[in-house]
Amino acid sequence: MEKQPIQPFLTVANYRFIEQQLDKILQALATTKDQNVIHAVRGLVRSDVIDSFSWSDEEAKLVDPLIDIQDKAEGEAFLEQLEAYIIPFRAVEAGKLKSLFKKEKKLKLPNLENIDFRQISYLAWDDPGKLRRYMVIEENGKNKALKGTFTHPAIKGICTLCNCHSDVVRFTTTVKGEASGTFANHYNYICADSQQCNQHITDMEKVRAFFERVTK
Ligand SMILES: [Zn+2]
Repeated sequence: MEKQPIQPFLTVANYRFIEQQLDKILQALATTKDQNVIHAVRGLVRSDVIDSFSWSDEEAKLVDPLIDIQDKAEGEAFLEQLEAYIIPFRAVEAGKLKSLFKKEKKLKLPNLENIDFRQISYLAWDDPGKLRRYMVIEENGKNKALKGTFTHPAIKGICTLCNCHSDVVRFTTTVKGEASGTFANHYNYICADSQQCNQHITDMEKVRAFFERVTK
């Protein structure tokens, strides 16, 4: 019987997480000769990546070599072969975006052709003139959208979405209040640059929780 090829099994966030764990190993190799320390770091990565996810045997075979990586070149080759197994953010079309933000007058759409859907965990773009940001995620095959305004200039802080220390802006979203005609604001600090933020998203649950929180 012919062997079935392995289907993509890594979300973009999973891939970023593995990349981050690889960095930990490379960092340890670059900063210490103490084999016990390096061994300990490899052990932590093993428990965070190999033991915390339920990989199939074949998937595990692709991910396992991470633990034993010896240098940067080997790390790069490892990541490159994993790229083929990324499940991209499902491409959205302009018409879909318009329907997600149908109440928005003069919606400025992103240039979808320039977006690499294999690099993003959430879709975001700005209307800089209005200091407005639009965000879209995918959940159970459906898109969820929200919009908000941000303030300039960016300050140093922790991003609610990726949890990294970076240049962040205060992002304000507005929802209907309990009494009719009233509104309530949610304030969160998020990365000023959403493309950079996407590179640091290693846990989609935090992004989903954010959507859940600010749209209630
Ligand atoms: Zn961020």
